[in-house]
Order: sequence, then structure tokens, then C-alpha cells
Amino acid sequence: MRTNFTPAQLENPDLAAAEKQLRACVHCGICTATCPTYVLLGDELDGPRGRIQLIQQMLETDAAPSAKVTQHIDRCLSCLACVSACPSGVDYPRLIDAARAHIETKGARPTAQRLLRQALGTILTRRWLLRPMLQLARLGAVVSPLLPPALREPIAVAAKLPQAPHARSVSRTYAAETKATKRVALHQGCVQEVIAPRITAAAIRVLTRHGFEVTIVQGSGCCGALNHHLGQTVAAERRATALIDEVSALEKENAFDAIVTTTSGCGAVMRDYGFQLHAKRAGAENFGTRVRDIAQLLRDVPLRTTQAHKKTRVAYHTACSLNHGMKQAAAAPQILRALGFDLVEPRETLCCGSAGVYNVLQPEIAADLQTRKAATLMQTSPQVIASGNIGCLTQIAAAVPVPVVHTIELIDWATGGPSPF
Ligand code: SF4
Ligand code: SF4
Repeated sequence: MRTNFTPAQLENPDLAAAEKQLRACVHCGICTATCPTYVLLGDELDGPRGRIQLIQQMLETDAAPSAKVTQHIDRCLSCLACVSACPSGVDYPRLIDAARAHIETKGARPTAQRLLRQALGTILTRRWLLRPMLQLARLGAVVSPLLPPALREPIAVAAKLPQAPHARSVSRTYAAETKATKRVALHQGCVQEVIAPRITAAAIRVLTRHGFEVTIVQGSGCCGALNHHLGQTVAAERRATALIDEVSALEKENAFDAIVTTTSGCGAVMRDYGFQLHAKRAGAENFGTRVRDIAQLLRDVPLRTTQAHKKTRVAYHTACSLNHGMKQAAAAPQILRALGFDLVEPRETLCCGSAGVYNVLQPEIAADLQTRKAATLMQTSPQVIASGNIGCLTQIAAAVPVPVVHTIELIDWATGGPSPF
């Protein structure tokens, strides 16, 4: 597709990257049928091809977008199904990320929306703030009808989040149970660590049991993915830099074999630090190439299996960030099958509607996708549902009558750890 950016605009590396992708798009529309919002809403402007046109107009004119354009952009889940479908290799994140940053910069949103997005980017990324706010939300849910409409949805979503029993103290380094063969940094995220610290605990048990020395890293407490998806570029860059700084300081004399995440939504963003930080932080590219999803890391590790879990019927939901973002859809199913689980994978792979804070900002679409996902998974008659991303786990758990657990909890159980349900 032809573009009309000025040479001055193309000096901005984000715009230059976006322009390259705009030129690569041939408007064939092959991606359209894979887009969850197009499937639900049937509007060309709620599909990738339509959004790409809107983004081009917006970026080329450098204008503040209209409310209508902002709405179509906001409805994008960043599920990246369109990236996997595109035969021309259009790297859509370069477009949607530039569009989100542009909308934030132009201050085009109504005040209530702007404040809500700012609050989400501030609270969710700070564990010390998130814990009391979740308690408040549970109280607030009781008087929800009396609150302003703008607060009702975030409070309803927050009140439904699971409450972890108590804050777990986490050591910095965990020695391998056998002679250590590898040394890894395990990223401790923000929201996951508040609502489901059991996931990091299971990951530590599995890794140390199989010869890994594990060092916990957290940077500023969040990898920046939440800010990134909200278009809050400065905060996202600050958090990315803090995480890279921490890892660099820890591995001055002895490099980690990998930087591991149990949240593919974070992993997909961490892998892209090289682009996000451009030349602002040396080593960002190298950091990104060493990020591994926990299942990706364990795929080639011989796992010591027990019998207790054998034949448990598991429905596996592939998180979009793991599938289309990190391109690691195969690892977890392969491991779970090899361990003896009776694994089923539904054919429909549409997003579950969680998508970071999408279920707060776009509750109707998120609820439709949630219902659809729950039905698809329950059709397989599972005893338990597994996935590899905290957003998917909470979104699905709120809509199904069976336990929903992280993949690593099943691997832990199958290799000598406690049953997760
Ligand atoms: S499939 Fe690729 S080239 Fe075709 S419209 Fe979608 S993004 Fe553009
Ligand atoms: S990222 Fe997902 S929701 Fe957004 S345009 Fe692509 S397929 Fe549609």
C-alpha cells in the first residue's frame, strides 16, 4: 500500500517501523476472518484491514483521532491472530502500538476514560497498591449500584479476581535439588503474583527439581506490558529498562541461560524490548532474544513423572500471546501429553477476551468472547482446564464449572508436586 509520510515523520523510529508495515499490507483481507472483533461485530473497521486503514490516516495526518476511530482501535484485543494469518508478513503490533501511543499523546479521550486508563496503568503494575485496592473493590461491589457508571465495571471485574491467601515471601535464589545444570532468571510479575502466587511457587519447584538454579527477578515490579498495551510508552519503557538493569546487574560475571516467564502476555512484550527501547538501552535486544516461556524452556528437559495424574482429562487453551505473540503454541501440549494427561485442544482458537485490561475497558465484547470460549472448552468434557497466561486463567475461570490452572501447576503435579485442584 502506498504511504504519504513526510521525511521528517520517518525520522521517528516508531513511525518508520509502522510505515514499513503499512507498505507491506496488500489489503487482501485474508486476516479478517481470524479477527475476533470482526467475527463478533461484522464491521470491516473492527477487523485488521479496516484498522490498518484507520491507523494509516491517523498517523499520516498526525491528527487527534475522532471518537469513532478511537473506538475501533480500542476494540482491538492485540490478540495477533491477524499476524499469524497474514501471508504478506505484516507485523501488526508495529501499527497498533504506534496507534495507541498516538492516541494517548494527542489526549483524544474523554476525561473519565483517561483517568480510568491512568488508574489501571498505575494500580495494576504495583503489587503493594493492587492488594488493598482489590480488598476495596470487594467492598465496593456491594454498593456498586450507588457508584458512578465509570467505576462499576472496573470494580465488578476486580471484585471477581481470586484472592490469594496471603503475600508469600520470595527468596532471591533457589538452589537446584540435583547438581545444577542451568541457571535461569524467573520473572515475577505484578498481577499474577497478587492473585495467584501459587504459579511462581510451582515453577520454582519444577525448575529446581529438574536441575535449574532459579533467581527471581522483578525489575520495578512489572515488565511494562500493561502500560505498553495502554499506550503509556514512557512508563512501559521505564519498567522495561528497570528489568533489564536488574538482570544485567545479577549476571555480571555469570550469565543466565534464559530469562523465564510464566505469563506469556509478559513474555511476548519482553521479547520485543529490543524494538521498544530502540537505542535507549544497550542490551535490550539481547535480553529479548533470551526470554523463554516456561513450557518452551521445559520442552527439551527430561521430566521425572509420577502416576497420580495419569489420564486426567485436560482441556488446553492456548493463550494468544503464547500462540501468535511468542509463537510457542506447541510446547505445553507436547509436555502435558508426554506426561500422561488426556489432553484435548478445541479447534476454535479465538481469544478468550481477557487481553490485559480489555475485559475492563470493553466489557461487552470481552463477555461475549468469554462465553464463547467457555462453551468451546466445556464441550470437550474436561476435568480441568489449563493455560499459560494469568489473564486467560481468570477470564475462563469466571465462566466454567471446573478448575482452571496454569500449565506449570499440572507439570508440577505430574513430577512430584501437590495436586493443583
Ligand atoms: S492479511 Fe496481511 S496483507 Fe492482507 S489485509 Fe490482512 S494485514 Fe494486510
Ligand atoms: S490483533 Fe486481534 S483483535 Fe486486533 S485486529 Fe488483529 S486479530 Fe483483530
